[in-house]
Amino acid sequence: MIAHDRKKESLLGWVSSNIAYLKPHKLVATKTTGDLLLEHIDGLSIATLKSGPMGGDQQIGALIAEEMLDLLIFFTDPLSPHPHDVDVKALTRLATVYDVPFACSPKIANLVVQSGFLGDHR
Ligand code: PGA
Repeated sequence: MIAHDRKKESLLGWVSSNIAYLKPHKLVATKTTGDLLLEHIDGLSIATLKSGPMGGDQQIGALIAEEMLDLLIFFTDPLSPHPHDVDVKALTRLATVYDVPFACSPKIANLVVQSGFLGDHR
């Protein structure tokens, strides 16, 4: 899981609402995103990588290339500039190359969950 700064609150809300679907899975997040989720959501286990601009997006990309990631939840902010834009592009490119579903906003993430992709944990 990753969220750009202006989307972190949105991801926090989405994760809180979908905790039952997420809990059975191994969760990985970039540093600031993961720390925020861990701070606000009880009982959540998340492995945190580096912060996105410091290589975290590339680490997530490497997990995709190693075929160790089934779903990318990355709430992106298309209205702000990002110093690590090339990393973001590389990551989303790899998700497409490896056909890993990429949820870039809450409604798409809802569709993924409602599809049963994460199992039925209602
Ligand atoms: P962050 O990284 O979770 O460390 O803020 C997210 C990003 O790629 O901007």
